[in-house]
Amino acid sequence: MKCNKCARLVKSRKNIVTYTGADQPIIIFIDNVPGYRDDKEGKPFVGPPGKFFRKAIAKAGITCELGFCYTVMCRPPSYTVPTNDEKRNCRPYLIQILDERMPSIIVTVGTAATSDIFGKTGIMRVSGNAEIRDRCIYFPLIHPAAALRNRDIMNRFLIDVEKLKKLVDSIDTLL
Ligand code: SF4
Repeated sequence: MKCNKCARLVKSRKNIVTYTGADQPIIIFIDNVPGYRDDKEGKPFVGPPGKFFRKAIAKAGITCELGFCYTVMCRPPSYTVPTNDEKRNCRPYLIQILDERMPSIIVTVGTAATSDIFGKTGIMRVSGNAEIRDRCIYFPLIHPAAALRNRDIMNRFLIDVEKLKKLVDSIDTLL
């Protein structure tokens, strides 16, 4: 993939980190931007939080087809977040990813992705609370980086991953 729409991010990124995963995933996980290692390797969810996240999913027994991507696919300069223009620029790519793969469940990972995609704020309040929209289940989830920083948040994160597993098991009755 080639794209130079965002001048600032073209300078800060090493790679465009686009979708990786199954052609027809049951779940697509969407984080907000690639982390340091994701950017370096050009693959999503491969840094320490991503690795922990993948392990937690596997440990919960979520073995269905999965996919991973970001709302903004180029890493911003350190300690900055994407601007609204940058989010707007990248949105058609995300929509294309979702339209082509039509997952049963979209998991928005962390505060920013949950707000941008799902329109919900207060991640500790909404994490683990699924909602069906247009025959797709939206499931907000605490960011694994936050879970790794705090034991209480970790406990809640793991409870919510278990909820996701139950959701996967009951998809046929929900959609
Ligand atoms: S963030 Fe998205 S729209 Fe902007 S340059 Fe990267 S791929 Fe293109």
